[in-house]
Amino acid sequence: HATEGPGGGVIQGSASEAVLVAVLAAREQAVVKYRELHPELSESEIRGKLIAYSSDQSNSCIEKAGVIAAMPIKLLPAGEDLILRGEALKKAIEEDVQEGRIPVICIATLGTTGTCAYDDIESLATVCEDHNVWLHVDAAYAGGAFALDECADLRRGIDRVDSLNFNLHKFMLVNFDCSAMWLKDANKVVDSFNVDRIYLKHKYEGQSQIPDFRHWQIPLGRRFRALKVWITFRTLGAEGLRAHVRKHISLAEQFEKLVKDDKRFELVAPRALGLVCFRPKGDNEITAQLLQ
Ligand code: PLP
Repeated sequence: HATEGPGGGVIQGSASEAVLVAVLAAREQAVVKYRELHPELSESEIRGKLIAYSSDQSNSCIEKAGVIAAMPIKLLPAGEDLILRGEALKKAIEEDVQEGRIPVICIATLGTTGTCAYDDIESLATVCEDHNVWLHVDAAYAGGAFALDECADLRRGIDRVDSLNFNLHKFMLVNFDCSAMWLKDANKVVDSFNVDRIYLKHKYEGQSQIPDFRHWQIPLGRRFRALKVWITFRTLGAEGLRAHVRKHISLAEQFEKLVKDDKRFELVAPRALGLVCFRPKGDNEITAQLLQ
């Protein structure tokens, strides 16, 4: 909001809401574009052809967004390292285009729920740019680590995405609920969601310095979540927040070492940020018992 550009940020309640907003906006943009390109097709014919993509490692909220948006989301196979790469997306898009479908959006994850794997944003962005597909990044958990210079690698490629969300209620010590969402071009969301009534009019309408957040979200009214973000930031400071994230990482490193030094256990995936995935060696039943 600090410049004249079309970008902007909004605080949503949850990652699920942010993903849904991105999916709905991308869908509406695609419908408008295809109606111009193919006036011979009806709107319902176009809507019936829309298709979206994510990885089979993405959070359940991605699939749910597809259900609510009435747009199938293909869960593409991640690699053996559980990372989704451009190659898999390119193959799926090419097949779908061949069969007459309209690719709309790809939702990548930085920090998957299962193992905190980071999808390859650079290669996904290249494919999305080639096919005019919206790229959203769900960084619900790992996004908090964007604040650390030593985690700069995590941010690779995010300047090329259309939208991004991360949960301040995860790593950033803000209490639930609070999910930050950024949009490269907020007009794409506002144009999709703008429904006016006479009782919603006000004298500052259309002034970009005073965004009308009701057009950026599902509900009409909003909670004042920015207040608790402000209080948390003012209380702890940027260094305090960084220290908190670093503490989580160092605790996970300690735990990883304990697992590695113990013959009864093994790591299932490489440690990532504060997450260590491990299991007892041997039969799966032992893992089930331990979990219980
Ligand atoms: N995305 C990822 C990667 C997550 O790990 C989670 C929750 O664990 C979510 C989305 C859902 O978050 P929310 O409860 O804010 O919708």
